[in-house]
Amino acid sequence: MNSLMSKKYQVAVDGFSSCGKSTLAKQIAQLLGAVYIDSGAMYRAIALIALRNNCVEKDSVNKDCLKPLVENVKIEFQPSDNHLILNGEDVELEIRGKEVASHVSEVAKHGFVREKMVKMQQDYSLTNSVVMDGSDIGTHVFPNAEVKLFLTADPEVRAQRRFYELKEKGMEQPFEEVLENIKQRDEADQNREIAPLRKADDATIIDNSVMSREQQLEHALQIIYVKLGEAL
Ligand code: C5P
Repeated sequence: MNSLMSKKYQVAVDGFSSCGKSTLAKQIAQLLGAVYIDSGAMYRAIALIALRNNCVEKDSVNKDCLKPLVENVKIEFQPSDNHLILNGEDVELEIRGKEVASHVSEVAKHGFVREKMVKMQQDYSLTNSVVMDGSDIGTHVFPNAEVKLFLTADPEVRAQRRFYELKEKGMEQPFEEVLENIKQRDEADQNREIAPLRKADDATIIDNSVMSREQQLEHALQIIYVKLGEAL
């Protein structure tokens, strides 16, 4: 697999929210020596800008307010810990909060937001091999990705994982509220007009409802080595 060092490749990890996509994508990137990009964090950052600048009125986005902010936004990932740096500020904790979670799908459905994020995501891959997680990576961002995985799990299992994750971060929320947010985002993400959450035809499904993280990684690596071996 020496050619892995020379040719750039893309691994798309798509799937439902709170499915463990970022955990898996991070592990894969580290093992392959590729750059990990959390595309969901980028949409969360835009939702944070929208909230901070009062561009969200009730549940809808004021496009005139948000457009210039999106045009000039700078999003980077801190190499040491993957924290998202928004216009020079580390906002990792804030983008994981409840406010952002409940507005992100509304913000992410707009064409001007998606165009800008997709362009940035594609630019990241010009100079690096990337492992990117999201919902439209295999279908829109990198339709020719060498490897496409699609993660899924029961909503209750996902809510439980998210519940403990929030608790660990000191951001506890009632389980029912977490579950409701996950169901609402599933619905909104699958039904948005532009680039909805969908499995690419050539993606491999991994249902991790009853898999441990280790089992999931092992399974994913088996798929990746075969696909990359064929492609590179
Ligand atoms: O993956 P995560 O749960 O952080 O994603 C947050 C939200 O960002 C998703 O629910 C979806 O609305 C949006 N998103 C998107 N396109 C992506 C990744 C995430 O619209 N590629």
